[in-house]
Amino acid sequence: MFKKILIANRGEIAVRIIRACREMGIETVAVYSQIDAEALHTQMADEAVCIGPAKSKDSYLHMQNIISATVLTGAEAIHPGFGFLSENSGFAQMCQDCNITFIGPDPAMIDGMGNKSQARKTMIAAGIPVVPGSEGSVDTIEEAIKVAGQIGFPVMIKASAGGGGRGMRIAYTQEECIKAFETAKAEAKAAFGDDTMYIEKFVEEPKHIEFQILADQYGNTLYLGERDCSIQRRNQKVLEEAPSPIMTEALRREMGEVAVKAAKAVNYKNAGTIEFLLDKYNRYYFIEMNTRIQVEHPITEMITGIDLIKEQIKIAAGLKLTVRQEDIILRGHSIECRINAEDPERGFTPSPGKITTLHIPGGPGVRMDSAVYQGYTIPPTYDSMIAKLIVYGNNREEAIARMKRALGEFIIEGIHTNIDFQYAIMSQEDFIKGQYHTGFIATMLNK
Ligand code: ADP
Ligand code: ADP
Ligand code: MG
Repeated sequence: MFKKILIANRGEIAVRIIRACREMGIETVAVYSQIDAEALHTQMADEAVCIGPAKSKDSYLHMQNIISATVLTGAEAIHPGFGFLSENSGFAQMCQDCNITFIGPDPAMIDGMGNKSQARKTMIAAGIPVVPGSEGSVDTIEEAIKVAGQIGFPVMIKASAGGGGRGMRIAYTQEECIKAFETAKAEAKAAFGDDTMYIEKFVEEPKHIEFQILADQYGNTLYLGERDCSIQRRNQKVLEEAPSPIMTEALRREMGEVAVKAAKAVNYKNAGTIEFLLDKYNRYYFIEMNTRIQVEHPITEMITGIDLIKEQIKIAAGLKLTVRQEDIILRGHSIECRINAEDPERGFTPSPGKITTLHIPGGPGVRMDSAVYQGYTIPPTYDSMIAKLIVYGNNREEAIARMKRALGEFIIEGIHTNIDFQYAIMSQEDFIKGQYHTGFIATMLNK
């Protein structure tokens, strides 16, 4: 096992990884930008190295500085968390070249799946159902119109390098298609430095259902049930639950086995997630694979009892999975609310600043994965997600009641947050009934 791991990330996920390491007796090295000198991850790790100025490209995305910090501190492995360099095959390759273990899949697997139009091709070849759409990338407006005409409106124009819900636009008509293609392309260029586009049929009123995968280096690949991430705002997840309220045993097995087949098609290793859209006829389509740990991984941990970060570290260290598919038993129900420093009253604009008062909820079945403390100043530089409130209940009803209770206890003063907005979601009749699709929040906001 590794003696020391460097964590190439910040925020709650860096804290989460430090916690797993500490329980495993592994020393930790945090990296931080100048603006993060007082951040929780900087203070919690055994060692901390400043890797540059606030801007991500000068620090958390600065590969050479991160590799240097790893060599200087003698860490043997790097955990990339999510976002930042987690799906950067060049970085994974650089780690390999420097004899540092990248805690994640090999560069080739990241390449094969990270490019979303390429991943579609690979999945089609492997016999995995994908959303009807373009074969590969779509490079010109003329081609976009032609493909859209073939598959039929409405269509979704998407960036191959896309993530976090950005670089994607819906089009109902040819005119909209022309405009959407241009704006999505420009957004992709600005956000990802890559404006390769592809087109999918817009699946109407879909549910986002994803399967957690674990695969060791010896060909053992498991699925750990699904997560329902259909509560989204602008294609970005807001709240997740496991299991999905609409899932049946038979469909879970079928989709789980398809997810394992998809992972095996690229010889996948480590933790990963296969994302599907499920339409109202229970037809499912692969949309992408995330070759990293995900934000919402805790809800799977709550219902399986498996620590996914520890598993990632063990797999990277060359250990065999100690559980088999038949040992994965889903028990109870878990919900996660992403807590963001943002103002729902003003179009969800980010709300950085100093936290003057903080009261963290507790009690039975409540888990808090957070990166903030009282007196901490949230910088304006990074993602607005500051905490994840996760609950566990014996059943969905108890989980909802518990989440409402915990959100009610949660007090943050000094900044705006979406805590009340999350509470409002918990109180919607359709949410309580478990009848919702990805349009849920848009409908709720228009009421
Ligand atoms: P998940 O699939 O784990 O739910 P999200 O799509 O919410 O992930 O993204 C996880 C985090 O990573 C978010 O903080 C998001 O802003 C960030 N992120 C996602 N994709 C990218 C990307 N390509 N580049 C930089 N950050 C990204
Ligand atoms: P990202 O890389 O940003 O996570 P995804 O491809 O996973 O992008 O899509 C994010 C969300 O956007 C989905 O969960 C879904 O709500 C919506 N979406 C993506 N593709 C389609 C589609 N073809 N039809 C309908 N909704 C879609
Ligand atoms: Mg996605």
